Amino acid sequence: MSASLTNTFDDKNSETSTLTNPTLVLNCGSSSIKYALISDDNATRITGLAENLGLDTARIKHTTLNGEKLEISIPGGNHKFALQKILELLEQYHFIAVGHRVVHGGREYSEAVRVDDHVLDEVKRLKVLAPLHNPAHALGIEAVQAIYPDIPQVVVFDTAFHQTMPPVAFRYPLPKNLYEEHKIRRYGFHGTSHAYVSERASDITDASGTHGWLTAHLGNGCSATAVYDGKSLDTSMGLTPLEGLMMGTRSGDVDPSLHIHLKRQLGMSLEDIDTMLNKESGLLGISGLSNDLRTVEQAAKEGHKDAQLAIEMFCYRVGKYLASLSCALPEFTGIVFTGGIGENSVSTRTRILEVMRHFGIKVDADKNANLVGGNEGSFHSSDSSLELWVIPTDEEGRIAQETREALHLV
Ligand code: AMP
Repeated sequence: MSASLTNTFDDKNSETSTLTNPTLVLNCGSSSIKYALISDDNATRITGLAENLGLDTARIKHTTLNGEKLEISIPGGNHKFALQKILELLEQYHFIAVGHRVVHGGREYSEAVRVDDHVLDEVKRLKVLAPLHNPAHALGIEAVQAIYPDIPQVVVFDTAFHQTMPPVAFRYPLPKNLYEEHKIRRYGFHGTSHAYVSERASDITDASGTHGWLTAHLGNGCSATAVYDGKSLDTSMGLTPLEGLMMGTRSGDVDPSLHIHLKRQLGMSLEDIDTMLNKESGLLGISGLSNDLRTVEQAAKEGHKDAQLAIEMFCYRVGKYLASLSCALPEFTGIVFTGGIGENSVSTRTRILEVMRHFGIKVDADKNANLVGGNEGSFHSSDSSLELWVIPTDEEGRIAQETREALHLV
């Protein structure tokens, strides 16, 4: 395998001094690696993405400290090869720690932890609950260990923030031994995002007292969480990230008897059903067009009936879920939207709030219209019963912060 640079790359003149004591944040997915090198005040970053790993089109898209974009093609490059290249690109900045986003932490972890042999074994063992993600995370940890054995590594779990959920929210109404012996329970995901946006909302609101937020992370994956006094009390995703809201390609909630019905009636295998629910459903399944809301919105505007239904269903299901999650909150301060859809789609936010028509919510349409493209702000009018916020998520920044905290670097 060889790497070739398609853009000119000269980072020698970069202002290395502004990237003080950086932490490297790695998000190793099944066919991609997202990375960010973040200064100790979270203000300065180098970011990038290795994608299409294992394919001829494998490449690294890298943005330098100066904002210069370059693309390095690594035909056939696998995770290990891509990580080596990424580490070479970042070596000159002398990062002091590595924080890994890990999707599943099971029930053992309620906070970020430093990697040791036991932690690495746990990440691998939890492959049973996150088969696409946890093996890739373990690869990332081992690749860094091999090249930089002395740099401390931390794992930040997507599930950790939800470990404060009470049993009434995290248990399924199933026989007790499935929970006690087999850890079958609701875990919840997108924890770093829900934690970041709810904390940020509490920092910037004028509301006094203890805050209760519903946070709606709406991207290709979607989940909603009830956060009170900084703690997750209930969330829409469960044992796996399939439960809950309708998503880009995931169905979200369906009748649990669907598997047996499809097996008996259509002879589908469990694997086929799993693929269908995770990869062929949601916005893609209903519209028949795409998992990308922008494409579906465009088609809906042009009169495509299935695209219109996909959007209506998406918003109805989000609104219905938010309404039900409000039951978890002792007090309800407001709703926070985040993720690619939550941060950008003005009409989706409006429609979701229309579904919640009995809550006395009043939208300021002008403010709502301005909250796109990474803007942060509120969009409720003064007579609204609830606050409404758009807060761009910052999972990388949160992971860097939790990594520094776990290593007592702050
Ligand atoms: P994420 O997974 O957070 O990157 O979000 C991806 C989703 O955000 C996709 O469905 C995109 O179509 C959607 N998205 C991003 N930008 C916009 C936009 N300007 N309008 C509507 N949807 C958007």
